[in-house]
Amino acid sequence: MLEWLLGKRRYLLKQDVTRDELRRLRRLLWQAELMELGQLDQLVKWTRVFVAEKHWEGCEGLVVTDDMKWMIASMAGMIVLAYPDWYFDSTSTVLIYPTTYVARVEPQYFTNTYNATLGGEFHRAGQTIYRGPVILNWRDVQSASQGPNEGHHLVVHEFAHQLDMINGPSADGLPPLPATVDEGTWRRAMKAEYEVAREMVSQGHRILMDHYGLSHESEFFAVASELYFQMPETLAEYHPNVYVLLRDFYVTELHSFPET
Ligand SMILES: [Zn+2]
Repeated sequence: MLEWLLGKRRYLLKQDVTRDELRRLRRLLWQAELMELGQLDQLVKWTRVFVAEKHWEGCEGLVVTDDMKWMIASMAGMIVLAYPDWYFDSTSTVLIYPTTYVARVEPQYFTNTYNATLGGEFHRAGQTIYRGPVILNWRDVQSASQGPNEGHHLVVHEFAHQLDMINGPSADGLPPLPATVDEGTWRRAMKAEYEVAREMVSQGHRILMDHYGLSHESEFFAVASELYFQMPETLAEYHPNVYVLLRDFYVTELHSFPET
């Protein structure tokens, strides 16, 4: 990283957290209420750096305010509270649409017509590009800021994909794990949970995870991550193994279970 950028980062991290910054964080991120003071301090400083270092761009005429940057940054920072030096450096740009946007996909033709991918226009809530921008829509970002939002959290979802892609361009639901966690065991356990969940749905059972989370292992990881931060108790109740696997990775727990 460039020396001047590192210098700026060090400067931003050194300044004391102000009361206004704490107030702002609490206003924009409901989970702030669940954090200890040390975590809040760390998150405010992390947010400063992320806001300052990323290029923010509003699409379709959307004007990006400081509050919008702070909301998105603090949401992304919340998921890496256990990894405070991780600033998503491979993502330099955050694009924000006012609401879900239309992505045009060019058709791809193969000699074998069965493999042809149809092009067209698709409505998207957000997207993560490997070593590229994170694309969000403001309506969905905002809806997760004040409460559990039925477990949905666009920013957690897209940045979980970013974490998943640290070890390679194709998201596979396997982010790099802390040294204390055995990767093979973790991967097998997560895959088993994914398959059990799919099996239950195919037998007509209703489960907590929505159908999108069952479309691919990477989506299972991203959707489960949303639940981990938005409705941890519910995730622990319905998918206790998934909860524990995510806790092994995210380390941070933003709630406490009642003593039994
Ligand atoms: Zn996804």
